[in-house]
Amino acid sequence: MLPNVRREDWYQTATNTNWDISYVDEEEMYPPGLTGQDAYNVPEDGWESWEETYKQTAREYYETQHEKDGSVYAVSSAMDQSGLPHSLGMGWEDVLKFHFATVPLLERAAVTSESQYARFAPDSAWRHMAQFGAMDELRHTELQLRIPHSFVKEDSQYDWAKKMYHTEDWASVAARHLFDDFKASNAIDSALQITFAFETGFTNMQFLALASDAADVGDIEFSEAISSIQTDEARHAQQGNAIIEILDEYDDLDRAQYLVDKSFWRCYKLFSALTGPSMDYYTPVEDREMSWGEFMEEWIVDQFLENIESTGLEKPWYWDQFIELVRQGGTSHYMAGGHYHWRPTLPIAPPGVTAEDREWLEEKYPGWEERWGEKWDRHAKAMREDDLEKTVADDLIVLCDLCQLPAIHADPDQDHNRLHCHEHDGETYYFCSEPCQWIFENEPERYAEHKSILRRFLAGDIQPQTLEGALEHMGMGADNDYERGIDFRAPEWGDDWADWSPSSSDPAGAASDD
Ligand code: MN
Ligand code: MN
Repeated sequence: MLPNVRREDWYQTATNTNWDISYVDEEEMYPPGLTGQDAYNVPEDGWESWEETYKQTAREYYETQHEKDGSVYAVSSAMDQSGLPHSLGMGWEDVLKFHFATVPLLERAAVTSESQYARFAPDSAWRHMAQFGAMDELRHTELQLRIPHSFVKEDSQYDWAKKMYHTEDWASVAARHLFDDFKASNAIDSALQITFAFETGFTNMQFLALASDAADVGDIEFSEAISSIQTDEARHAQQGNAIIEILDEYDDLDRAQYLVDKSFWRCYKLFSALTGPSMDYYTPVEDREMSWGEFMEEWIVDQFLENIESTGLEKPWYWDQFIELVRQGGTSHYMAGGHYHWRPTLPIAPPGVTAEDREWLEEKYPGWEERWGEKWDRHAKAMREDDLEKTVADDLIVLCDLCQLPAIHADPDQDHNRLHCHEHDGETYYFCSEPCQWIFENEPERYAEHKSILRRFLAGDIQPQTLEGALEHMGMGADNDYERGIDFRAPEWGDDWADWSPSSSDPAGAASDD
């Protein structure tokens, strides 16, 4: 095929196929409501200069992807055939279970978005690129369903890789709320949020940070798989910058700025619930490379700022409070405590915090002990007193009416972290943070009708009105209560804690309980 012509001489011609349409009107073929052309001030032919930085032809794409799949599946089937039990130790399994429960079917949702761009993006080069994106996401779905599938025979919690997304589990509701919000838009709006904010910023964290932890733990299969996935993300995420380049030229960027501010915050919130606890609490302490806060600063904050500064966009208005949160790792600690306390609501076995964990946490987040230590002390005390039930919640908490996550996301004693309220149409809505409230207030018609799990509970949609009723609603009913999160390491870690004393040299008081 074209043996004597250099790629750069025909690539442009092959991907620029913005042909004149003769059988139907342009607007019938590309309805502005779906492309987004009516939402931005770009002239009709303005989009034709859309250019991706990472160029790839179809032939190159298939060859490269074939090789990538080949090496990942080779590792996978070697692991499978070895017949070794999969277990890689306490904590790490929770990282895997949580990842597989939440990620693969979100990848499937991304197939739909990339397919939307492949059909309705306002330029042919972009549509070309998005076709690869759609195939990428399908590959990610298959790969990340295949791995947990091979573990189900050992541990049925891995079945949640296929299940979680289709349940009303709180983590699933939060993830769908975010992704549906991004998806339910025209192609330009959607791609700004998904490819620029979500992929350029945050998938790096889930995939690079966890790949490096996985390598340390010795989980070669997972490490290989997610590194391989990240190479695709790095390519198709380029769509975002290419869009902003065009908008930079013609548009005032107000709408783009709003969407970037909104989606960056929403991603931060979701990933802090997912990746934060995985990096700071579940990965075995000896294998933790960076703290979540450190990784956020280096990979998200710096890269995002660099990205923003290369465009006409500005830092989100909430930047100062965001940075303060990142440094404290606030949401990560709150969520890890929440996962533990509400563990029957998640298909994992969240570990408690050992003495080594606490030393590490205090070192990474100075002040951790003072702020969070006492909460874990109470769990440990209950355990030593043989009162494990006391460590499990028997109630629900206030959920944010925007992000759907618990409505406290950092230190609630600080004023800007208090519970935020807003009246709309005679109804009071609650928010975890100022940015979540700001998003809601900008588009109340988009968000007001959605019922959080707590609202369903209060409205009587969940019966009986008990935690057991809520568990049933979340897909964790009595029929499969063996899939509910338990702490099978208790009470050992409570014992481990018995003589823990961060500041005093006399641990005798606590130790005498043994
Ligand atoms: Mn993907
Ligand atoms: Mn992607």
